Amino acid sequence: MSVVTILVVYMTLIAFLIWVCVLADPNSDTLGGRLNVLLTEEIPTRITFNLRRRLPSKVFDALAKAYDYIVRQRNPILQCLYLLLFLGSFATYLYEGWGRIPLGDLALSVALVLACLASFVVACSVPAGTISPSTWERYDNYKPDNVIYVAGRVCPTCDVVKLARSKHCRLCGVCQSRFDHHCGWLNQCVGEVNYRHFLFFLALHSCTFLYGSSRLWGILRREMIKNKLWDATFYSPSSGQTVGSSPLVVCQYLVVHEGAVCGVLALAFVMAIVLAGFLLYHLWLAGQNTTTNETFKWAEVRLKVKIERSQARRAHEASGGALPLRRIADPVNSYNISLYENLMEVLFPRSERRAQNSTGRKAVSRVATESEKLSTEAREKIE
Ligand SMILES: [Zn+2]
Ligand SMILES: [Zn+2]
Repeated sequence: MSVVTILVVYMTLIAFLIWVCVLADPNSDTLGGRLNVLLTEEIPTRITFNLRRRLPSKVFDALAKAYDYIVRQRNPILQCLYLLLFLGSFATYLYEGWGRIPLGDLALSVALVLACLASFVVACSVPAGTISPSTWERYDNYKPDNVIYVAGRVCPTCDVVKLARSKHCRLCGVCQSRFDHHCGWLNQCVGEVNYRHFLFFLALHSCTFLYGSSRLWGILRREMIKNKLWDATFYSPSSGQTVGSSPLVVCQYLVVHEGAVCGVLALAFVMAIVLAGFLLYHLWLAGQNTTTNETFKWAEVRLKVKIERSQARRAHEASGGALPLRRIADPVNSYNISLYENLMEVLFPRSERRAQNSTGRKAVSRVATESEKLSTEAREKIE
C-alpha cells in the first residue's frame, strides 16, 4: 500500500467519523443516522452502565464530575490542547527543518504561525453577539420567518424576548445573535459578530498546515532521492530477510528514520484537509445565509413536510380521488437574499451596520444642532 493510499484511507476515516458524529441526523433512518445514535448514544450509555457496575461509587462520581466539566461546561481544555498541539508541532517542525528547509521558507512559516495565533486570539476574544436587555435592540435585525422562528417566545434564563436566528447557549448561559454553534476550541459561541473571525481562523490554519506539509514532504522527498530509496534493498531484522523497494517498505523506512517529520506531516496534512472541508462547508452555509444551528431546524421542517405530503397522498388515495390532493409547498429560507448580500452579512454583520448608522445619525444630528446654533447666533448679531 502506498503512502498516499494510507493517508487517503486515514483521512477518509476521520472525515467519515466527524460527519457521522457531527452532521448526520440521529432522527433519520439512514446508515449515518443509525451510526450517529450508536456512537453518540448507545456506546457511551453502555460504557457508563458498565463503569457504574464495576467502579467504586466515589471513583465513578469523580469520573462523572470530570466528564460533566469536560463536555457540559465551558472550559479551556480544548484551547490548551490546541496550543499544546500547535506549538508542539511547530517546535518539532523548526527543530527538524532547521538546515533542511530554506531559511526564507522557515521565515514564512514563522509569519504564518504568528498570524494563526493572532487569529486564534481574535476568534476566542471577540464575542458572538450576546443578547441582553441592554443589547436586545442592537441585535433585533431579523424578522421571524414563522417557519423555524416564531415571534413572541421568551428565553426563561435570560428573560428576554427571543430574537429570530438567536439561540440560548447552555454552555455560555446567554442568548447569542445569529447563533451558529458553540465551539469548544474557541471556548465560546460562534455567532453573528465573530463568524467572520471564525472563518478567517479556519482559512489561515488550513493554508498554514498545507504549507507546512509541503515543506515537510520536501524533506522526505530529498531523503528518498539522497538515499536512492526506490532502488535500494532493505534488510528486515525481524524476519532476517532482504526485501526489494516498495511503497510500503519506503514508508516504513521513513517512519523509522524520520519519525518526527512523518508524524508532524501526517497531523498537519490531515488538519489542513479537515479544516479546509470545514471552511468550505461554512462558506456554503454563509452563501445560503443559514447557520449550522438552522440546518438542524430545516432538517426537522423538511421531515415534517415529507410526513404531511405522504399523509395528504394517503388521504387522497383512500378517498378514491374524491378528496383533492393537498399541495404542500417546499419551505423557503427567507433570510437568503443573494450570494453577494449573504456574504456581506457575514463580513459586515447587521448589528454593526446598525451601530454605525446610529453613530452616523447621531453625528448628523449633532452637526445639525451646531449649525442651527450658529445660524441663531448670526441672526441675533444682525438684529
Ligand atoms: Zn437565553
Ligand atoms: Zn456558547
